[in-house]
Amino acid sequence: MAAHPPHPLDSEQAWLENAQAFIHKSLCPAGEEPSVQLTPLVIDCVKTVWLSQEVNHGFTLPLSYSFVSVQDLKTHQLLPCCSHLSWSSSAYQTWVQEAEPSGTPLPRERLLFLGTLTDLSENLEQEGRNGNLYVKDNTGVLACELIDLDLSWMGRLFLFPSWSYLPPARCNSSGEGHLELWDSPVPVFPMTTSLDCATPLHVLYPKAASYVLRQRRKLKDVPPNLAGTLVRLSALAKSQKETYFVLTLGGSPLSGSQAASHVSIIVQGMVTGVLNEPAGLFELDRQLELCLAYQQFPGIRQVIRPGVSLELQDVHLLQSLGGGTTRPVLAPCFRGAVLLRAFSRLKPEIQPSHQTQGASLYKQLLWERQLALPLYLWTVKALMELAHKLCPHVLRHRQFLQHSSPGNPSLALQLLAPNLDVLAPPCSPSWNPQKVILGEPHHCPLQKYTRLQTPCSFPALATVVKEGERRAWDAFDPQALLPLPEASHLTSCQLNQHLSWSWLRLLPSAFQPPQVLLGVLVASSHKGFLQLRDQSGSLPCLLLDKDSRPFSDPQFIGVVVRVERFQLIIERNVKSSYPSWKELSITSYIQKQKARVYVQFFLADALILPVPRFSSPLSTSLTSPRTKPTLPEDLHIAQSRLFFLSHKEALMKRNVPLSPAGSSEMPKLPLSFLVSGSWLGGTQRKEGTAWRPSEPKGDNSKDQKVLLLFVGSSVRWFEFLHPGQVYRLVAPGPATPLLFEEDDPSCMSQRPLELAGCTSCLTVQDDWILELESSQDIPDVPSVNKAETSLSDLFSSNCSDSLVSFSAEILSRTLCEPLSASLQMKPGNAQVARECVKLTVALEIADCQFPPHLDIYINGPHLPPPLGLLPGARVYFSQLEKKISRSHNIYCCFRSSTYVQVLSFPPEATISVSLPHIYLAELLRSDQTPFQATASCHIVCVFSLQLRWVCSHCTSLCVQGRCTLQGSTCPSKTSVSQASLRLLVEDGTAEAVVTCRNHHVATALGLRPSEWTSLLEFVRGPGRIALQFLGTGAHLEPSAKMNDSLALFLRTLCSSISVLRPIVLSFELEKKPSNIIPVDPPRLQRFQCGELPFLTHVNPKLRLSCLSIQETEHTSFREASAFSH
Ligand SMILES: [Zn+2]
Ligand SMILES: [Zn+2]
Repeated sequence: MAAHPPHPLDSEQAWLENAQAFIHKSLCPAGEEPSVQLTPLVIDCVKTVWLSQEVNHGFTLPLSYSFVSVQDLKTHQLLPCCSHLSWSSSAYQTWVQEAEPSGTPLPRERLLFLGTLTDLSENLEQEGRNGNLYVKDNTGVLACELIDLDLSWMGRLFLFPSWSYLPPARCNSSGEGHLELWDSPVPVFPMTTSLDCATPLHVLYPKAASYVLRQRRKLKDVPPNLAGTLVRLSALAKSQKETYFVLTLGGSPLSGSQAASHVSIIVQGMVTGVLNEPAGLFELDRQLELCLAYQQFPGIRQVIRPGVSLELQDVHLLQSLGGGTTRPVLAPCFRGAVLLRAFSRLKPEIQPSHQTQGASLYKQLLWERQLALPLYLWTVKALMELAHKLCPHVLRHRQFLQHSSPGNPSLALQLLAPNLDVLAPPCSPSWNPQKVILGEPHHCPLQKYTRLQTPCSFPALATVVKEGERRAWDAFDPQALLPLPEASHLTSCQLNQHLSWSWLRLLPSAFQPPQVLLGVLVASSHKGFLQLRDQSGSLPCLLLDKDSRPFSDPQFIGVVVRVERFQLIIERNVKSSYPSWKELSITSYIQKQKARVYVQFFLADALILPVPRFSSPLSTSLTSPRTKPTLPEDLHIAQSRLFFLSHKEALMKRNVPLSPAGSSEMPKLPLSFLVSGSWLGGTQRKEGTAWRPSEPKGDNSKDQKVLLLFVGSSVRWFEFLHPGQVYRLVAPGPATPLLFEEDDPSCMSQRPLELAGCTSCLTVQDDWILELESSQDIPDVPSVNKAETSLSDLFSSNCSDSLVSFSAEILSRTLCEPLSASLQMKPGNAQVARECVKLTVALEIADCQFPPHLDIYINGPHLPPPLGLLPGARVYFSQLEKKISRSHNIYCCFRSSTYVQVLSFPPEATISVSLPHIYLAELLRSDQTPFQATASCHIVCVFSLQLRWVCSHCTSLCVQGRCTLQGSTCPSKTSVSQASLRLLVEDGTAEAVVTCRNHHVATALGLRPSEWTSLLEFVRGPGRIALQFLGTGAHLEPSAKMNDSLALFLRTLCSSISVLRPIVLSFELEKKPSNIIPVDPPRLQRFQCGELPFLTHVNPKLRLSCLSIQETEHTSFREASAFSH
């Protein structure tokens, strides 16, 4: 039997048997006897439709088709499909070809589907109708859509000749799937045309009806029927109990009703894209956006996908919305209806999971805050930006976009709240659908809107870094960094050094729209600093607690930080080889450029939100595996010990012996740091969630001092540890006796000297955890004041105590040649430091009107310097090494024990502080004199003038523009001019010798730029000219050979009133405050006045360096300015 092909009649028989079984099971009314009539009626119906298609291959029955029930579709049909009994293959092919350009057409299945049309869903029978249409059989109910519904079809059994079925979207498993019924259904039982036209129906037309309603009393013989032209159909709306819609009748015979006067916009179009299905945003005809969020029911939304044709009645068209929306938006309110005009032939595209979540959150936002459309669209965009940053690694989309409830607030909503609270505070009562539908004139939330200034954006952190770098290099302009008058006298080396470090600060106002930085706070176990991290990348950050206190609570690891006020810092390191100022515009002289981007902000300016606990297991991958290895329940077994931190040392590469665990992965010189402090009490064990009191130890008199070594991934604690705080060191796992008591031999060998005062030394293990303790709760906490070295100790010539500590404001930061000392230090180290950072700081000393300046050098192992050492920042430096230079200047250097704490960021607005205006005699007082000041004075005479041209490369003298270096090995052909001038000024209180250099010489001589350039050109031939002035005459240096006219000109100039004139001089003392050579005491000097000799004390002449010269505008200026001081 099996070898023979089945006889057609056999297969027809089998098909018929199957059909009968199916009809009995699925279609016969439940509880009734199988109707004798039903089966042949159904078969007839199928046959009729089947035979109506042109090609049926001679079969009278669709043998390739099988019956399918609602249940079958729901459980077995997991992919979208369509079935067209009445279509031939070629008809289907044509249909496919038409659909193909815009996507994948629905695949065809050969299924026969029958059912009863109803507007009552199974589970809604008690609740009443909800406006949806369903197909029902004995196995279940499925929602369906039909283009042109005839009311007489309700409750009847149909064969659906052409339909498509769409199962629920994958991620939205709670959904039910739905049917799209393409062609008119074919009734199984013949439709009886029961319309009895014999008796005409008595109806009321709108005008009469409104009259009746206005009378508000029962009129006799009012017919129960209304007639009119349908002029408007509202959307489905919901009151407390019922779902309803409103239709408006206008009668053409009785025109003039209110409704007819309403101008309605009707738009037809095809959906070409799904922008955000849960938010109700679609694209129409590739040109418009369609927002369905202002209708209460998502109803039709499940049918909407690319390819669907819609008709929008009474829709609002909104243009120029702002807030990042560029296209016009169509949005129906309650009054408008969205009607289906044609189904889509396309298979729905699988939406990314973030595009399927959040429907109830969007709805909540829109209705609770009554968002205007521009703000709603921006909110949706902002939520997507946030989801891209955090999902799915920190949170799943579903968790992030969840509906917000009092006990379970949505993280998304909390992050947007600062914006929304300003733009749309929560309000009540919410919009009233009935008023919107019926009110005249029409009044709805979509009507009134103003263009929205985009409130902010939440850029990906990788984009922030990139954008910061881009802007920093766009703004990098050597000519702006080195103003011309100064730059023209610099040698190649000076020039390139000036350009080698610079920085740029971007405030939020620099971005349009304003940027809000958002990420998870993470402590880097590789670099030791804090980072904001999102899925795109990370941004190093520097945080300050309020009142200049350092940020020290490790509990903040893993929280979401949102910050609107910040400083984005970009430090630029440039290696360049500019020969001279003339080439500054040529970028090819830049050999290397590197940017370091980070953000600094105050904790108080940030919104800190914990990540909900139920986050996905993937979350640890973002918060660094070992940063937060354990949840509290894992910490139920643990031991801990409190310690008080007295000093923290620098984070640097140290020659630390590798810890036994994980030693293979550690680099040769691992990053590490040490803290010193003392134990407070003994080891404590965990009991439930609390710590048991520490076990009494035998030897209480023993000194409790301890040195802790942090190496490997425990460097992540670096930013949290600060002197003066109490911390708890927690070791998870079962108790190990003497864990915190025994010395660590590897740590011991590291610091034999420092260990002298410590009883124990411990290497902090990777899995140990640090907690900040409030020191108020703990007795016997030593109080520690910030160590500050006194000014007299700092500037004493005594170097015995070489470690100094102070707070200071950074005035400038430059890169310079390494100090000779640091070069000698490491003979064996191949990577000799080639550069060194020099910070010039103004010391912060109480009751000091003119804070002295000091230079701090950071070299070798301490580079790059810690974050935040920027001009304008206030910093506490502890344990710097004090040194004295050969010229007796005091300066400081970083060493391995140095602790640095930024106290405040550079002020956002740079305030130009003018120098104090003083009398020169004030400088003779030894105490509290300003280092830099301004004085109104008179140039008495010129002592000397030197002009010369030097090689910009080797600084040898250039004659005729050529380098005169011995052996002429110098490759440079560029020369630069240098000038110096010494003159005597007095202001009636004292005299001072002032040295002017380079471009200040031109100002001092009162020369215009062109005159100055010509003068320098005259000197280029001889290469150098030096004049000494003694009394009234000028003496040329004998070696110089120059033409007499130039000498004559300079001599005349320097003794003329155009040079010897009143000026306003800004200067600094030649002897810096950090120079410790004692000032010469006043000397006794003999004077002859006529016949009489005098002996008097004469102060040594003041020696000043010119910072700038301004001309006095009026003779009275001096009095006026002197008066003001
Ligand atoms: Zn409206
Ligand atoms: Zn040279």
